[in-house]
Amino acid sequence: MSQPVRRKKEVFPTKVLSNTEITPGVFSIEVERLHDFIPGQVVAAAINTSDPLRLYSIASGKEQPFLRLLYDVKPGGLLTPQMARLQKGDTLYISAPFGRFTKAPDDAWWIATGTGIAPFLSMAESGQTQGPTLLQGARYLTQFYYADFFKTAFGERYLRFCTAEEHPEVIHGRLTNYLKESDDVQADRKYYLCGNANMVVDVRDLLLERGVPFENIVAEIYF
Ligand SMILES: Cc1cc2nc3c(=O)[nH]c(=O)nc-3n(C[C@H](O)[C@H](O)[C@H](O)COP(=O)(O)OP(=O)(O)OC[C@H]3O[C@@H](n4cnc5c(N)ncnc54)[C@H](O)[C@@H]3O)c2cc1C
Repeated sequence: MSQPVRRKKEVFPTKVLSNTEITPGVFSIEVERLHDFIPGQVVAAAINTSDPLRLYSIASGKEQPFLRLLYDVKPGGLLTPQMARLQKGDTLYISAPFGRFTKAPDDAWWIATGTGIAPFLSMAESGQTQGPTLLQGARYLTQFYYADFFKTAFGERYLRFCTAEEHPEVIHGRLTNYLKESDDVQADRKYYLCGNANMVVDVRDLLLERGVPFENIVAEIYF
């Protein structure tokens, strides 16, 4: 269960442009864009303004005319089961963008699982594709959301790790095993981690063990 945002933020009505189930239980919703943002920022969202707000990373580029969020439906959750039923023309309330998971330097490593890919999609769609290396972990191949876009944008700097299925373009096994053994893990690089708490904590501890200083690890935890 996630925590409500404590100090209620002002939210603004915005119209849904599309709401697509991209793989079972995971949706990409696009709404009218109301604000400028820095890639990596989040918005708070609600369907009923009296409900506690939930946070979502922006998953679209800063020049795109719409605002995209990527979310998975939590059965029994307050917002996401309702959000999955929204249709074109319906209203979603969102706050102005905020957050500091931004400004990843060009040679950073981006590490994501699940919908934690969202801020990296925003950064890449905003043109940050020349330097970063993207590592994405998933249980199933269908969970590499927007893989075709990332393959084109990053080429060999896009590494996918899948635990339950095999594919010639995907490394079979855990992302954390790769980080444990890879000679490419360097202490003087920034590591941007995004996803659920277990992944972020495991990867952070592993990077610390490998000599990466705490200040080089920047994390966004979805709780
Ligand atoms: C900085 C940040 C960014 C985030 N970005 C994203 C993102 O881009 N995409 C994304 O998908 N998520 C993101 N999240 C998570 C998101 O904010 C929500 O927590 C998530 O979508 C669930 O919302 P919900 O209202 O549907 O579920 P909730 O109401 O929060 O419920 C979650 C789960 O807890 C269970 N539950 C609810 N109440 C109880 C209870 N009393 N006892 C036991 N169980 C209970 C529900 O059944 C459900 O399974 C982010 C979180 C943070 C903090």
